[in-house]
Amino acid sequence: MRIDVITIFPDYLNPLREALLGKAIERERISVGVHDLRDWTHDVHRAVDDSPYGGGPGMVMKPDVWGEALDEVCAAQEATPRLVVPTPAGRPFDQKTAVRWSQDPWLVFACGRYEGIDQRVIDDAATRMPVEEVSIGDYVLVGGEVAALTMIEAVVRLLPGVLGNPLSAEQDSFSDGLLEGPCYTRPEVWRERPVPDVLRSGNHAAIARWRRDQALERTYHRRPELLSALPEGDLDKADRKQ
Ligand code: SAM
Repeated sequence: MRIDVITIFPDYLNPLREALLGKAIERERISVGVHDLRDWTHDVHRAVDDSPYGGGPGMVMKPDVWGEALDEVCAAQEATPRLVVPTPAGRPFDQKTAVRWSQDPWLVFACGRYEGIDQRVIDDAATRMPVEEVSIGDYVLVGGEVAALTMIEAVVRLLPGVLGNPLSAEQDSFSDGLLEGPCYTRPEVWRERPVPDVLRSGNHAAIARWRRDQALERTYHRRPELLSALPEGDLDKADRKQ
């Protein structure tokens, strides 16, 4: 997979080179390009923003600079990328979106700052490529870089060969529509708190049932709307007793 990020703070994307993402780059599972938006400015101040039409506080990112940047970055390969525009006003990013994007060959992230990017940039790009405006949560960050990092990490860990054990992703929260239950490791007793007996029983069926029950209970208490959204057939008889 190819990933490009356009930003006015390229250094903000340095964590891309760390840990799991860094390894994915080393192993050539992904190739990453981080681009400084100011490289497409033509004035002495390298300005990327201007005051908003209609008045109001803050500044808006200029369409001409973004337009040139996207024209060049999105034409760098023969394929057509999916353009991702992080914005609190976007559709919520979730695990289903991460799974869908993990099948794409190429993602380009356009990181906004200030009040955001002139809407015509997004509308214009949408005539040439799939564009998604997405939010990572109901709060407002100062820029799109952290949102892009969040989404990139969620997508890249799903790519084949990136996680040590691919089963981890299959058993994580949201994969079956539920939150994952609690997990434990050695020692068997820590500060007088023992690991639940069933997990040391060696009875795989009982362990699977216990984990499922814990997932149902946790989801019920913390994210009841996920339970209501489960398709009818996803709950078995034993689940219903819960
Ligand atoms: N005026 C915008 C609004 O109210 O919807 C907020 C702009 S925010 C201060 C600046 C940039 O941060 C956005 O263009 C976007 O790139 C990023 N951003 C902020 N919150 C975000 C969120 N929840 N999800 C994704 N991106 C976010």
